Amino acid sequence: MTDLRRTGDECREVLDELETYLDGECPGDFERFVQRHLRVCTSCLDRAGFEQELRALVAAKCKDCAPPGLLDRVLAHLWATR
Ligand SMILES: [Zn+2]
Repeated sequence: MTDLRRTGDECREVLDELETYLDGECPGDFERFVQRHLRVCTSCLDRAGFEQELRALVAAKCKDCAPPGLLDRVLAHLWATR
């Protein structure tokens, strides 16, 4: 049953760096490791989905309190990178 233990270690590793992964700030090889893990591990996938929803919610809420100039710059950047 060493597989089960290894999976647990992977989960801890993935969850430890989940924030960095969602920020898109982790190294490419670690990003691939997380993506591979999320394909086989539903509990980490659920957690990642929840974190992503939370971020979207915070982003939506903060739209109302962010300085207008900042929002314009962010939107301009988003349109420019499409
Ligand atoms: Zn996992």
